[in-house]
Amino acid sequence: MKNPRVLVSGASIGGPAVAYWLNRFGFDVTVVEKADSIRTGGQAVDFKGPVHHDVLKRMGILDDVMAANVPNADGITVNAKGRKVGTIPGEFAGGEINVPRGDLATILYRLTADEARYIFGDSITSLTETDTGVDVTFLHTPAQTFDIVIGADGMHSNVRALAFGPEEDYVHHLGYYYVLAGLETGEDDIMYNEPGRMAAIGSTKAPAFFVFASELLPPARDDIALQKQQAVDALSGGQWRLPELVAQIPHAEEFFMDSISRATLDHYSNGRVVLVGDAAYGNALGGFGTGLALVGAYVLAGELAKANGAHTQAFLAYENKIRDYAAISQKVNAGRLMAPRTRYGIVLRNLLFSSLSFAGPLMKVIDRPATNIELEDYTPLAVLHSSRASADDRGDSFPTWGS
Ligand SMILES: Cc1cc2nc3c(=O)[nH]c(=O)nc-3n(C[C@H](O)[C@H](O)[C@H](O)COP(=O)(O)OP(=O)(O)OC[C@H]3O[C@@H](n4cnc5c(N)ncnc54)[C@H](O)[C@@H]3O)c2cc1C
Repeated sequence: MKNPRVLVSGASIGGPAVAYWLNRFGFDVTVVEKADSIRTGGQAVDFKGPVHHDVLKRMGILDDVMAANVPNADGITVNAKGRKVGTIPGEFAGGEINVPRGDLATILYRLTADEARYIFGDSITSLTETDTGVDVTFLHTPAQTFDIVIGADGMHSNVRALAFGPEEDYVHHLGYYYVLAGLETGEDDIMYNEPGRMAAIGSTKAPAFFVFASELLPPARDDIALQKQQAVDALSGGQWRLPELVAQIPHAEEFFMDSISRATLDHYSNGRVVLVGDAAYGNALGGFGTGLALVGAYVLAGELAKANGAHTQAFLAYENKIRDYAAISQKVNAGRLMAPRTRYGIVLRNLLFSSLSFAGPLMKVIDRPATNIELEDYTPLAVLHSSRASADDRGDSFPTWGS
């Protein structure tokens, strides 16, 4: 039997990570990404605790990730006059390892570029499952059939919409948006709040980062100009340095905006289609999304290898192992902490973080979910793949697949 053919949609974090493991286990992997190249940008993303550490190590990228590490630093909170009113402990702002999201995406892409087939600037337009596979059509690439399709295409997943149903059935807006923008800020790690709005500038994690409370805005997925306008509208009329920062937004070359949302699915798979990363678990901005995507990709690929490509069995095992771990994404809403909606809430939040005796233990409780899984070591299954590969060199077929 031939190596199972897997199509992955999305080449950010979860996509290249699952492609890496599937390649190691002998699957034939194609990755389709909507953007014309790997998307850089975004703030530094966090890795916390031994589980994240183990997965990075097993992937052989720990050193590269460490080399890109951005150390945590304490930030200060200021009032409208720029006067210091509190401190945000560095541990709160990040994990043990913090790597700019774009650097991580690039590391993962380089790790897989020679093994997986990458198609940039394209998108799946239909998925039709048959008894033997999934017939896939694309915007540009000719139609092909795959054994398995993986949606790693983020919170607004195209694969989820095609295989499960419309986004509004699965994604729940948590009342906040976040904005990353490459602005000239000229100050060190300062955070300013007004009810329902936060601006953080000069942090080691991102040049300018805003959070604002808002009802769901009209969709502006691929329309950056409209997203910028929405951000400007939501952040205008403020005090401190907000007017000057907001005036720069329309001209920012680096810009990313998204809602803080939760994805809630009864199952992560439907037939031969399965979801990983934000597409499955959402992104509530609590510093868990990227670690979740890497761990989820590892477990999904490992279970597919363990089941010799038998997708029904593998998807069930993946779901059973990951659901509890991903439960953190159902609980966190970092928007509430970053941009409390009342003056009283802001004062309380600042007091909380300025009390170091409280902040230390609180961090430990907050970070505990990152370690809440017993990781199986799937790496020996890569040896099985090597024997399949040498069988291929001899011209043999791969008798172990599906047997
Ligand atoms: C440019 C960018 C900046 C980000 N900045 C931050 C940040 O500052 N803070 C934060 O907490 N999180 C940020 N995120 C989200 C963060 O990367 C994820 O929460 C987490 O790393 C899990 O990653 P993921 O691979 O599941 O999803 P994502 O990182 O969201 O990646 C999804 C990928 O799928 C691609 N895609 C979308 N639709 C299609 C389609 N139809 N066909 C093919 N490909 C498609 C996207 O272009 C993207 O490359 C950002 C994501 C992106 C893409």
